[in-house]
Amino acid sequence: MPLPPISGDPDPDGADCVSCGRCCHHGPRTVHLLEPDELRLGEELLRRLTVLQPEPPHFRFIKNEGERCGALDVREPGRYPCSIYEVRPEDCRIVEPGSPCCLEARRLGRLGTSVAFRRVDA
Ligand code: SF4
Ligand code: SF4
Repeated sequence: MPLPPISGDPDPDGADCVSCGRCCHHGPRTVHLLEPDELRLGEELLRRLTVLQPEPPHFRFIKNEGERCGALDVREPGRYPCSIYEVRPEDCRIVEPGSPCCLEARRLGRLGTSVAFRRVDA
């Protein structure tokens, strides 16, 4: 289930992101890892939090937990910090607060279609 929508523009410097987390709610095979992402995450996080597409071209993705990213820390209700923020993939770094995909995610309660990730249908 998506989260409720959030109205209004977020803080451009990301001060609202941990209490929002809408762009970290999405379907599986959304956050795609490039080679530099894999190097930054390291073996333990790759093993624990990522999955390889079984069929060619065998892209690697962050795992999902239901309809949210498996790297999202949801232990505290209403707070959505990324558990791997410092080493998060490039896909996540391109979602700037206030960008079209951010505003769409806030409106939908989950990441929408305006984000330019390389998506592979499950
Ligand atoms: S949707 Fe926008 S405000 Fe919400 S967490 Fe993502 S970047 Fe931050
Ligand atoms: S890796 Fe972190 S920033 Fe990227 S979608 Fe998952 S929780 Fe959000």
